[in-house]
Amino acid sequence: MEEVKNVVCPFCGTLCDDIICYVKDNHIVGTKNACRIGHSKFTHRDGAVRYTEPLMRENKKDDFKKVDWDTAIEKTGEILVNAKRPILYGFSATECHAHAYGMKLAEMVGGVVSNTAEVCHGPSVWALQDVGYPICTLGEVKNRADVVIYWGCNPMHAHPRHLGRYGVFARGFFRERGRSDRTLIVVDPRKTDTAKLADIHLQVEQHRDYELISAMRAALKGFKLGVDKVAGIPVETIYEAVDILKNAQFGILFFGMGVTQSKSKHRNIDNAIQLIIDLNAYTKFSLIPMRGHYNVNGFNQVCTWISGFPLCVDYSRGYPRFNPGDTSVTDLLMRKEADVMLNIASDPGAHFPNKAVERMAEIPLIAIEPHRTPTTELANIILPPAIAGVECEGTAYRMDGIPIELKRVIEPPEDVLPDREILKRIISKVEELL
Ligand code: SF4
Repeated sequence: MEEVKNVVCPFCGTLCDDIICYVKDNHIVGTKNACRIGHSKFTHRDGAVRYTEPLMRENKKDDFKKVDWDTAIEKTGEILVNAKRPILYGFSATECHAHAYGMKLAEMVGGVVSNTAEVCHGPSVWALQDVGYPICTLGEVKNRADVVIYWGCNPMHAHPRHLGRYGVFARGFFRERGRSDRTLIVVDPRKTDTAKLADIHLQVEQHRDYELISAMRAALKGFKLGVDKVAGIPVETIYEAVDILKNAQFGILFFGMGVTQSKSKHRNIDNAIQLIIDLNAYTKFSLIPMRGHYNVNGFNQVCTWISGFPLCVDYSRGYPRFNPGDTSVTDLLMRKEADVMLNIASDPGAHFPNKAVERMAEIPLIAIEPHRTPTTELANIILPPAIAGVECEGTAYRMDGIPIELKRVIEPPEDVLPDREILKRIISKVEELL
């Protein structure tokens, strides 16, 4: 049995880079250091229904037929070139070269290109474009942070090694005793497993995060809160929490979808960023979004380098436009404007609103996807890729914006191609057809 060391886990935005994979006969038979969800990403390759050849069908009620790559790429190119309002979506579970080719293809066909941040941290990236981004690295958190806030996220379940490697339990250079050297504040309407670990749990009422942040900023600046409670929390508890933040040596705010997808959306994040700026008048404080898919951040980076905008980019006028709500893929589907969809490295069939999924079922859908998912069930063409970070290399961006090289651990099935190669082939075909 071969031992492959220092593998990067391509599951969540923590991108743990200390995984050991045990490989036998080109199968990953075990892992060390990975959490349970990371472990299953490496091992379920063998358990799930895996596509190993391109598949096509004219009618969505028909069964798929196996076709060769040339036929599948030709049909994909024709569908995209003949579309009036094509959308290209997903990208969060693949590597950055695939993102760049996806952007190129979107520009060539005059499409709208976006990623899964639309339904998770989109409001965070819009806010950071509005007011800036006081971020630091996870290494700085590990070595320096004595006050840690998790707001609207539950890493015990969604990013299981985050608390141990960086957030709370990690022993860092200036925090040798780990948990004993840190104060943990959790803001969440529910008593989650993360909240159970907290020194202070601010049990905010749902959708009232904006009010709580504003009250904390007011308390920080010395204003008296003239009420008994704000967002369901007694003001004495708010004063106590603010006092801890103000007296931190190095503080960090990790925030999740409980903030970005509750009412006020990106205004919550604008306000949270302002709170961090206010805190920096007294101490050193930063914030980091808890990104979900391992390379959702990477797409926002690549998209911004190329177009100037992080997602929801519309090339229909020949130049990039960004107007979320108008140029977001979910809205284009729900308004029935999108007439063709290319989905890659995500599963909108399982996660989009019903009306958007209904439209996906009506229009030609091309899925670049290794496994059978609710999205592939709605597809007309399935193009099977190698799994980035398991079967091919690439680059991914960790939640704190650090680029990390993904490893190839095993060889992919014989007839599959990396995402970037599939997109390159589609680009060549579209060039021929235009
Ligand atoms: Fe993988 Fe995230 Fe678990 Fe780390 S915490 S092993 S990156 S799933």
